[in-house]
Amino acid sequence: MRTIILITCALILLCAAAPAAVEVDLLTGGDFEAGAWSADLWEGEGGGALATDIVHSGLGSLHMHGAGAATVVSERTFSLVSPDEPVTVSGYWKGAVTEGTGGRIVVRWLNGDGEKVRDDPLPTKAGEFDWTQFSESLTPPANAARGRIFLEIWRTTGDVWYDDVRITQGVVPLSPAEITFGSDPATITVGVFDADAAGGRGYGGPSIHAALSAVPNVRAELLDNLSLRSIGRCDAIVLPNVHDIGRTGAAALLARNPQVAWMADARAALSAYVHAGGGIILTHMSNGEGAFTNPLFPQVVSVAGKSFDTRPVAFANHPVTAGLQPFDPTFEDIRVLQAGPRGEVIMRNGSGQAVGVGGEAGVGRVVGIGLCPGIDKFEKPAPVSESEARLLANALTWVAARSRPGALIVAAPNVTELTEPGEDLDLSVAIVPLAVEPGGELDLRLRMRGETKSCEPASMEQVQSQDSVTLLRVTFDGDALGDGVSWLEVATNLPGAEEPRDIAQVVNRSAFARFADGLPKCHFTWSAMNVHGPSALRTEADIAEMARMAREMHFKAVLFAAKPPDAYLYYNTEIGEKAPGYGDLDPLALAVKYCHQEGLQLLVQFCTFQEGSAQNPSKFIREHPDWADWDPGDGPDLSKHQNGIFGCPDRREVRDYELSLIREMAQNYDIDGISFDYIRYKNDRYCVCPHSEHKFAEYRAAHPELSEAQARAAMAEQSIVSFTWEVRELLDEVKPNAILHGYCHPAWANKFPLQYLSFRASAHGADPSRGGEWPLEKVYEQAKRNVDLADDHVEFMKAAPMADTAYRAYAKSPERYRRELRLINHAGADAVMIYLYSTLRYEPSLREAIAVELAEP
Ligand SMILES: [Zn+2]
Repeated sequence: MRTIILITCALILLCAAAPAAVEVDLLTGGDFEAGAWSADLWEGEGGGALATDIVHSGLGSLHMHGAGAATVVSERTFSLVSPDEPVTVSGYWKGAVTEGTGGRIVVRWLNGDGEKVRDDPLPTKAGEFDWTQFSESLTPPANAARGRIFLEIWRTTGDVWYDDVRITQGVVPLSPAEITFGSDPATITVGVFDADAAGGRGYGGPSIHAALSAVPNVRAELLDNLSLRSIGRCDAIVLPNVHDIGRTGAAALLARNPQVAWMADARAALSAYVHAGGGIILTHMSNGEGAFTNPLFPQVVSVAGKSFDTRPVAFANHPVTAGLQPFDPTFEDIRVLQAGPRGEVIMRNGSGQAVGVGGEAGVGRVVGIGLCPGIDKFEKPAPVSESEARLLANALTWVAARSRPGALIVAAPNVTELTEPGEDLDLSVAIVPLAVEPGGELDLRLRMRGETKSCEPASMEQVQSQDSVTLLRVTFDGDALGDGVSWLEVATNLPGAEEPRDIAQVVNRSAFARFADGLPKCHFTWSAMNVHGPSALRTEADIAEMARMAREMHFKAVLFAAKPPDAYLYYNTEIGEKAPGYGDLDPLALAVKYCHQEGLQLLVQFCTFQEGSAQNPSKFIREHPDWADWDPGDGPDLSKHQNGIFGCPDRREVRDYELSLIREMAQNYDIDGISFDYIRYKNDRYCVCPHSEHKFAEYRAAHPELSEAQARAAMAEQSIVSFTWEVRELLDEVKPNAILHGYCHPAWANKFPLQYLSFRASAHGADPSRGGEWPLEKVYEQAKRNVDLADDHVEFMKAAPMADTAYRAYAKSPERYRRELRLINHAGADAVMIYLYSTLRYEPSLREAIAVELAEP
């Protein structure tokens, strides 16, 4: 489709007044008119729900009631659209509080892993008060990726209503004058992204920054965000092994706010920037994993796999590899790269795999490096080696922009997956002229180009113009798109942007959804529902309800975490520490009783080596702190350990303790089996506590044929696999008919003596902090892999792929979940593990979908 737009005011100097910030509401449903707000009772008696009788405006409010010193909490997570503007929390509340704190609002800032960075409490309010406004400006702390608001009553008797709650953040419109890359040919300004400073996670940034700072005529900066404003000042950008980009607008938020999406969407900004002439260097996972599972520039480079053959030995005659000789990188693995149609392999390892790729995207250049410069083999920051520094400096010189572009064309979102048949595609396209006369005409042509067919937009509408930026809303009819990948192709009459550029991609997977819809209803011979958080079942009635719901969904078994990750024991134990607050109640005994009454098997889900958290280690670890698992960098001070506390799987004492708990449960309760979870080292790889290091030295000496990395992996595998066989022997002695199930990660878990082996075959829903939703093809492929692996070693083993409902905030739709189950069954799985009850308990439509799929034919 072709459109002509008048360029209104390109003379930035004329626009003297600073443009007003665009206010964006980060919260959805704060008017409480409808939607999935719910409230949980944390203590006392009371509750909360949407109310329609007392409202500030509209038809609904959120009402919380405490009958006696009750704490009721409603929470919602929000993302930020601007990296550095404060947010304003505002709304109205009304109270009739007779005792206690009354209404309480807390904003919790989280990093990309969902860990708390800081709590910002607002003033509380008690007593009798009519609708009153609250409003507070908060500045997100550095390292925060997103926030979570808690609306509460705290240890309160009485009532509080909330309505019209908003969390707004301003985005100052980007002026074309702020885009300066390519304007100074004498100096290269390079922005090295520090994902950790953005609340995300990345590796090597600060060391790469230091290495590039030492290059003559280079000005290196660390960037704490990837907005267009931030990268537009730099002649080149480095994305050092980014696992999570941290502070950035969530896709849904940006889709609701196209007027800011083009400035705030990191992917859209990076794509526009490079196509207009900017340069980019990607290391390790940034080439197409982690934060960029959909590769940023797949026509140049993507990730083909992982290798421990890290040494580059063959170099193309290319400016990026000039002067390099074979060298050993500082980190212990690499990503094997794949060159796209516009990429060229410039560096290979001894196995002939690509470890360096260079190419062009639009007018800009891309270099992908499979190495991870800037960290050592323990993933700790380390200086960039001399050879790696030379490689980076060469790459920077080759990619850096040398002239100012004529225009920037941004399309947001940069990548979209269509999964529902009939779904349409909406994009916002911003045209930012940088070197044109005012009053001219902008001639814009765009279409979606697919492998098999191309299509024109169904509609194109000019939303607004600010300065000289033209913003369009473009819609494509989903049914007109071909299957697979299509590219949004844009051409203009602006200097430097005349040639058609592929600035955004759409992956149309609806064909696979249609395929899944056409599959027959599931037929599983075994199906297990996971109750992973037993602490949510406080009473006998809760446990009876859980068993009843499992039977109504036609499950065959319940996996009840009598030893969950917090390492409290949810049964009457003589050995460990029973979960507090249960008194005489024995949750495991009740779970056995009610599951058996409902005709269900009851397996104890046993979170094997996890022994609580650094703040709250289990009694076992408190008594024996020196038996904890150490990650590289950990020491004897357990309070400094991260990612939980684990017992060291290499220690006889730890193994004996875990075995003694299994023996105690198998002897004292009529359980039908054990289900392993957390059957691993804390970091999934190995332990470096003094005991393990001593054993490793012996192992290494006995296996001189193995490299250090191979020996580490082999010893770890032996240690974990042998433990599962010790469990089988124990059960053969005390309960020979007991079933063993495992939810595991490494491929070699197929050597465990399990009746049912579960690998993850389904994502955590759309939760952005966990990588977002998977394509349905991946669900099928992972289920198929589970089936193939279960077939390999243990004769009686069956695959039971894990299908995740996602946590409640991201609960999957019944349609989506039905497709996943059918694809898992179609992949050849005869059994399935369904995670998790804490979502199903509150989602009747998901329960209904499962009941249909699991019913006997
Ligand atoms: Zn150890």
